[in-house]
Amino acid sequence: VARNPGQPEFQQAVREVFESVEPALERKPEYLDAAILERIAEPERQIMFRVPWVDDAGRVRVNRGYRIEFNSALGPYKGGLRFRENVDLSIIKFLGFEQIFKNSLTGLAMGGGKGGSDFDPHGKSDAEVMRFCQSFMTELYRHIGLNTDVPAGDIGVGGREIGYLFGQYKRITNRFDAGVLTGKGLAWGGSLARTEATGFGTVYFTNRMLGTRNDSIDGKRVVVSGSGNVAIYAIAKAQELGATVVACSDSSGFVVDEKGIDVALLQSVKEQRRARISTYAEERGASATFTPADKGRIWQVTADVALPCATQNELDLDDAKTLIANGVKAVAEGANMPCTPEAFHAFQEAGVLYAPGKASNAGGVATSGLEMAQNAARDSWTFEKTDGQLHAIMDNIHDTCQATAEEYGRPDDYVVGANIAGFTKVADAMLDFGLV
Ligand code: NDP
Repeated sequence: VARNPGQPEFQQAVREVFESVEPALERKPEYLDAAILERIAEPERQIMFRVPWVDDAGRVRVNRGYRIEFNSALGPYKGGLRFRENVDLSIIKFLGFEQIFKNSLTGLAMGGGKGGSDFDPHGKSDAEVMRFCQSFMTELYRHIGLNTDVPAGDIGVGGREIGYLFGQYKRITNRFDAGVLTGKGLAWGGSLARTEATGFGTVYFTNRMLGTRNDSIDGKRVVVSGSGNVAIYAIAKAQELGATVVACSDSSGFVVDEKGIDVALLQSVKEQRRARISTYAEERGASATFTPADKGRIWQVTADVALPCATQNELDLDDAKTLIANGVKAVAEGANMPCTPEAFHAFQEAGVLYAPGKASNAGGVATSGLEMAQNAARDSWTFEKTDGQLHAIMDNIHDTCQATAEEYGRPDDYVVGANIAGFTKVADAMLDFGLV
């Protein structure tokens, strides 16, 4: 904490991991002798840079760019880029730190990193977004590479932004290094099922977790927060598996739709038209109502399963109490760290199945790993093959977390399971490398 003042999200993420890996440190004191905790919480490299660009009115704008190359013990740094006005060093470091253990859990050879900017794409024209992305990559290109650091998307960075970023990378370097970015378009090295992967993976994990209680997502009433990349495909998969998703949101408020969210309409509103979630309610008709963010909380909507898929710390203790009182059975994080520590402890104490994001949302980065494998082999797999591998990876992550929790005497504690399983693999590799 003293080393990182003014970084509350980063401190929160580190505290959660350090608290839960204590039993692993007791079993293997070499970790303490080699100062693994001190080293793992210190990024290998932190890059911050100026991003100047010109808006449509001809005015010069300046944003701040970040790339935190956190840990490369298991492979090249890997993690997304976030463009959002509240992005700062604390947020990028918390995301990069989480990414280390998440990537470890996938079983693929990927280290952890994260980046982004305090640029806000809302309300910007395509031309402005393009000029920003080109300026951002004009600095970033010298730090990344297919065996060094491989960025992808996150909040505010989707297919459009990855296209502009890859175009600029290719132009500057004169190399078609497809594997330098993931989340690419299908015509130029992207993988089928990458767009869907995080949301689908979160639901595969949820279903497997419910399976441990001889239950499933089929027939469940589900609430999903957010309406971006992760949320949309979580909604689609949950409904495909027989659930009814009755609510979703964006930063302006939430909609309740008792008939179940119409995914095609949601995609049209959010993906194609980039409009607000209230437009969904206006166009859906009588079954849907919109509540502005200052008039209520999405977590007041009764649900059997809650999937927070928007942003960090969006579900607090009061929200958790409301969900528990309304009978929630399972909570799985599609977003990174959406539940506050007080909230997830409340779920665990109430016997609600709870999956931390580093386990349940790992399907996105896992499928990025599959995209890199296809790029390296100059191959492209069918949707079914990639989705099948994603499903197998999510089941494996679930089972690893569950088995690790049991091994350490904490059955059903997916936080302990995910943190210890993710941590020990990275820590063992760091021991093998000596003091580097
Ligand atoms: P998108 O930008 O596609 O969507 C984000 C959604 O969350 C939007 O609906 C947005 O609303 C909403 N949102 C963002 N910030 C806030 C806020 N402060 N309050 C309320 N709502 C908010 O991002 P993704 O779907 O890609 O990412 C969502 C979460 O999932 C993030 O935590 C991300 O780190 C995590 N994640 C993403 C992965 C991926 O593959 N994309 C992989 C693993 C995790 P609005 O439209 O108003 O901005």
